[in-house]
Amino acid sequence: MTLPVEPMRRHEHYLETQHKADHLPFVKDVHGLAVHAHRDGVSVGKVDFGHPGGADFTIDETDYTGRVAPAMAERFGGLGRLTLRDSWTGLYDQNRFDGNMILGNWPGHLDNFYVACGFSGHGFMHALAVGRGLAELITRGGYQTLDLSRMGYQRVLDEQPYPEESVR
Ligand SMILES: Cc1cc2nc3c(=O)[nH]c(=O)nc-3n(C[C@H](O)[C@H](O)[C@H](O)COP(=O)(O)OP(=O)(O)OC[C@H]3O[C@@H](n4cnc5c(N)ncnc54)[C@H](O)[C@@H]3O)c2cc1C
Repeated sequence: MTLPVEPMRRHEHYLETQHKADHLPFVKDVHGLAVHAHRDGVSVGKVDFGHPGGADFTIDETDYTGRVAPAMAERFGGLGRLTLRDSWTGLYDQNRFDGNMILGNWPGHLDNFYVACGFSGHGFMHALAVGRGLAELITRGGYQTLDLSRMGYQRVLDEQPYPEESVR
């Protein structure tokens, strides 16, 4: 079962902000900028979907200045002066086919082998439905509460991508 899922590097930056940010909810915009309050400022990242896959943990010094700082200036001007204090990297699991989860088994093969993968940076919010759906599929032989078959591997075989419209 060939899964179009691979690890992809993601940067995170800690910024001290001139104005307090501790009231800020977690904010994620349609361009992939993700910001939350952290210590004396914010922690921010902006996914680079063009980055090649692989276990790459190197820090690109231009990620903040070239990609994140302009996006922060546009969306968070109210936080005042921003001072970069730390940068680090980790890995995202990316479904390169359509950026969405692959759930269930391999149609026509190995009917007792299940996957739930490729959440592409938005799997936490799907976790409850995925857990229930997969449990139903395994114990009852089909989805009962929500029909999640659209998220199955069949769409990969059929080359029918099913991307999220706003969250990435
Ligand atoms: C920086 C960042 C920000 C994110 N922000 C959001 C967000 O705002 N909203 C949202 O919904 N989602 C977000 N996500 C995505 C979300 O965290 C993931 O989609 C979700 O955690 C994926 O769950 P999972 O169970 O598939 O994989 P994981 O949580 O990665 O779990 C896989 C587990 O398998 C274990 N494992 C791996 N290999 C083996 C092995 N060979 N043997 C045994 N165990 C193994 C690992 O140790 C791990 O515990 C974010 C992810 C990142 C990295």
